[in-house]
This record gives sequence, C-alpha cells and structure tokens, in this order.
Amino acid sequence: MTANATAANVDVIHPEMIEKEAQRLHEKLAAAGYHLEDCYDLAPLVAEIKRLKQEQDVLVLCHHFMTADLIHGIADVVGDASQLVEAGRLTDKKTILVCAIKPLAEAVKIVNPEATVLLPNIEAGCSIADGIKAADVRALREQYPDAVAVSYINSSAEVKAESDYVVTSKNARDLISKLPHRQVLFYPDRAVATNVQEALPEKEIIAWNGKCIVHEEYTVDRIAHFKKQHPETHILFHSECDPAVIPLGHMHGGTYAMMEYVKSHPDVKSFFMVTECGLADTMRAEHPDREFIGTCALCPFMKSINMVNSMETLKGGGRLTEEVQLPTQVAQRAANAMQNMYRMVEN
Ligand code: SF4
Repeated sequence: MTANATAANVDVIHPEMIEKEAQRLHEKLAAAGYHLEDCYDLAPLVAEIKRLKQEQDVLVLCHHFMTADLIHGIADVVGDASQLVEAGRLTDKKTILVCAIKPLAEAVKIVNPEATVLLPNIEAGCSIADGIKAADVRALREQYPDAVAVSYINSSAEVKAESDYVVTSKNARDLISKLPHRQVLFYPDRAVATNVQEALPEKEIIAWNGKCIVHEEYTVDRIAHFKKQHPETHILFHSECDPAVIPLGHMHGGTYAMMEYVKSHPDVKSFFMVTECGLADTMRAEHPDREFIGTCALCPFMKSINMVNSMETLKGGGRLTEEVQLPTQVAQRAANAMQNMYRMVEN
C-alpha cells in the first residue's frame, strides 16, 4: 500500500478523527481483505479527501471496478457507466472527480459541460475505446451510408461525436431494437455487438473488432472447467465477455444487471462474477453472508486510479493536467449523440 508514502502530504488532522475513520473503514473493508493497520494507513488520506471535497464542492463518482478503499472511503456515488454519467449529469456540484476511465470522465463532461471534471490519471484509457479513432468511424459511415452509427459508452469523445447514438451495456439492446434502421454500425466492442445481434436477429449489426483485455481472458475451456468444480455456483457474465462463453452461464448483462441478479436470487449462496475483479469485492462487502468468487482479472486502466492520485488531484497539483477538456465542436456533437440516447431511453 502506498498510503504511508504520502502521509507527509496530508495536512494535520485531529487524531480522534483518524481513529474514528480507521474504525469505520475497517468495518466496511474487512470483508474485502483489509486489515486494521491498512485502515489506519488509509484514514489520514480519506479524512483529507473528505475535507477537500467539502471545501471545493466536489462530487466523487466511483466505478464498481475501483478498489474497495475508494468505494467505501471517498465515493458519493458508486455505479456502472450509465449510473455514473447520470449522476454527473444531474449534480449541481461545481467539481466532479471521476474515479474511472477517461471515456467515462469525458462522457460526464459532455453531459455536464459547466462542471470542472477531474480524472486522477488523465491517461486512464480502455482497450476497447483506444482501438478506434474518429477517422475509422467516418470511413465506416462512408462504406455503409444507410446504417445508423451507434457507439458504446466506452469510446472517446471524438468517436461519440461521429455517432448518431451512444449506448451502455444496460440499454444497448432496447435502444437498438427501437431504431427504424436495419443496418447498425456498432463500435468499438465486438462482444457487446455480438450479444446484441443474437438478441435482435432482425437487425444487421456491423461490428468493430474492439476487445476488452479483461473480459477476453475467460474462454469456454476455463469456464467449463470451473463449472465442473463448482456445480452449485451461479455464473454471471458481463456483456463484454466473449459471446461463446455466454451459454455456459446463468445470466449475462451489464454490471448493474449482474448486481440485480444477486439481489433477486436470495436462495443462491455462491456466485462467480465473470468481470473485473473489483466487482466481487463490492459484492462481498454488500452481502457478507454469501460467497463471491471473483476473477483475478484486474483492469490496469481502472486500477491506475488510487487514493493517492485522487487526493493529489483535489489538492491542486494535478488540476491543470487532470482536468478533462474537450474541443467545443467535439463536445457539442458528442452531446447530441448522448441526448439521442436519453431521448430513446425515456420513450
Ligand atoms: S475492464 Fe475492459 S472495458 Fe472496462 S475499462 Fe478495463 S479494458 Fe475497458
């Protein structure tokens, strides 16, 4: 843990407050494997971030794939992509600290241009989003002039700006089913595109070949082997998993749908969450009476955000370099694609 290394950067905080914070953190984090000493290391950082949040009127958004200390230490909203972007859209806070990847921080800026949006590591990309450029979308549109262009939320602002609609794993299938077009350009994620195609055979989905380096690790052989060893365990796949593994599981969907599945199956005692490993930690903390078998797949992009760079960003050291800034035209065109999504979802 790096917390000790920066203790000197933390303003002096009353020892009683640190004691209380450490105990609170331990109650929340013990189920995710944190010891009391870890929580004493984290407490000064958490207390300092809370002070800065109040002083600067900050909302902290944390993706489920963040580490448990960020989620239980400093988050105001914990959620999947659609929940975080929605929270960013609706807040009246002046500053939003996004603990997630750059495409999501950009999406928050697109829907709330007045806010200062900060990302603790401005380089926190995503293998899906980084695999396509705006010029690729323009070329696709030229090649398929009758198709509607739909971008998955994990895409850059420039790619969203070239699109007719943005979708999330939660609304992709429903939104595309409502579109009058038969041909749909879907990018960047091939797995989500294939899952949508299977659900909507009347559509012709033309998919870009973007891949998530985390979810592609789970192959049919690995899952079949797991099933043999754990026949009672329910297997939950994220939609970004290889479509070939989906029939081996009990459900597939976005992060929110996976969490809802657990809630709606109170009699099931064991779940295999086939997605980034952070979600299993979150679920253990929320349902300590049940077993969550996580993957050991860490997303290096999500995990590049931590307590230290979150604090430094708020302290001002990173403010200039860690602020999300978008060219006006890109922001406006991307906002149109996002608004088209909201309009379709609300109908
Ligand atoms: S888990 Fe996959 S889709 Fe999510 S941010 Fe990491 S690389 Fe991108």
